[in-house]
Amino acid sequence: MRVRFAPSPTGYLHVGGARTALFNWLLARREGGTFVLRVEDTDQMRNRDEHTEAILHGMRWLGIDWDEGPFFQSEGRERHAAEARRLLAEGLAYRDFSDPAEVRAEAEARGMHPSRVARERAEAMGADEAEARVTAGEPFAIRFRVPDGETRFTDLVHGDMRFGNEDVDDLVILRGDGTPVYNLAVVSDDHDMAITHVLRGDDHLSNTPKQVLLYRALGYAEPVFGHVPLILGADGKRLSKRHGATAVGDYEALGILPEAMVNFLALLGWNPGDEREVMTREELVEAFTPDRILKKSSIFDLEKLSWLNGRHLAATPTARLAPEVRRMIGANIGDAASALDETWLGKLIDLLKVRARTVREIAEQAVPYLIDDFPYETEAMAKHWERDPETTAGRLEGLSAALAESEWTEDALEGALRGLAERSGVGAGKLIHPLRVALTGQAASPGIFEVLVLLGRSRSLERIGRALVRLRTPA
Ligand code: GLU
Repeated sequence: MRVRFAPSPTGYLHVGGARTALFNWLLARREGGTFVLRVEDTDQMRNRDEHTEAILHGMRWLGIDWDEGPFFQSEGRERHAAEARRLLAEGLAYRDFSDPAEVRAEAEARGMHPSRVARERAEAMGADEAEARVTAGEPFAIRFRVPDGETRFTDLVHGDMRFGNEDVDDLVILRGDGTPVYNLAVVSDDHDMAITHVLRGDDHLSNTPKQVLLYRALGYAEPVFGHVPLILGADGKRLSKRHGATAVGDYEALGILPEAMVNFLALLGWNPGDEREVMTREELVEAFTPDRILKKSSIFDLEKLSWLNGRHLAATPTARLAPEVRRMIGANIGDAASALDETWLGKLIDLLKVRARTVREIAEQAVPYLIDDFPYETEAMAKHWERDPETTAGRLEGLSAALAESEWTEDALEGALRGLAERSGVGAGKLIHPLRVALTGQAASPGIFEVLVLLGRSRSLERIGRALVRLRTPA
């Protein structure tokens, strides 16, 4: 099995393109096949080197590695042109000297397809006249003569496909300026690279009968085709920038993990046939079979991406997250970030990563643990402090004294807090919630005893002291 990903470098790596690349890659890895990367750079007007770079970067980030390439379609120009001339020599294609605007006008007047008008004109022209015009240096395009009948192929996703050839136009295969056209170049390259399976987006489905006809005319065995349905936004419309980020690179910048992105992309239009959703790269490779690619479009659900990211984040070794978290923390607290103790930061990340959905969230949630004058969230104060500030202050004061006498371990601190709650006849929550606001400024945090241990004795007691001042200062 040999598969390929054939992006056109006319933009960044779009999530649709990334999914196409991933499906091909999964298929190759599962079957022990070869994954070829071919950059289709024949659109001189729209190609940019930086787009090629962005596409390769996106693939590397996702961990979609290629076995051969990157090849560039432009390297095959001579071969493409030679194949067009071969079809011409064999009578399977014809020269089109006509002026496109004139042909269009005639086609419209006669209610025909322009390529059939061009064909008529070519057939009406004697061989001598054609030779004379060629000798005179007149430019001409080469058009493929679509045979009568119908074209069938079996699609891996959609099953048996049939197209009436009368609906397929006589496509140009070599332009007047000698440059080849996508449909010929892609057939020539896929044959040259011995590609056995072409998995690509549904937007290419209308090209496939043309390509199948070209394979047959050139005498080449055609690959197996599979067309993957579109990706839609939550509103059911084709995914576009209106729905949010569509470039893979944007998700990298947002702190999405490549494992989560790969998992998410794999589930866009495919499923493993069981209940699993959170899957590693290895599990995906093992489970991927193209017969479970869905025929209907899939919805790009950002909420699901975020959830999957949280699941993968929790499973990611802290040591791998730490450099990125430190970098992002730096944006929030400046130079102090680089001075943070590695082990301590690791413990903080351990606590935060199980609840966060992105690396960015970890970095944001880390702030109150890093600076002592962190803000108190209004809602947290309203809920846990302000209903009765004096009682709250009294409880925190008692708690501070009890904790100060405790050994500073999770178990001992928990014992001290619960003992105090019991002696005072209040539920432990009446102490824990105000304490959490005092230590973190927030209503939600990792387990409070873990937080106490992480902050250490003196910082924890100082924070309770700061809360007492705040609670006893008239607003
Ligand atoms: N270069 C084409 C594109 O980016 C893909 C061609 C193909 O997969 O056959 O849409």
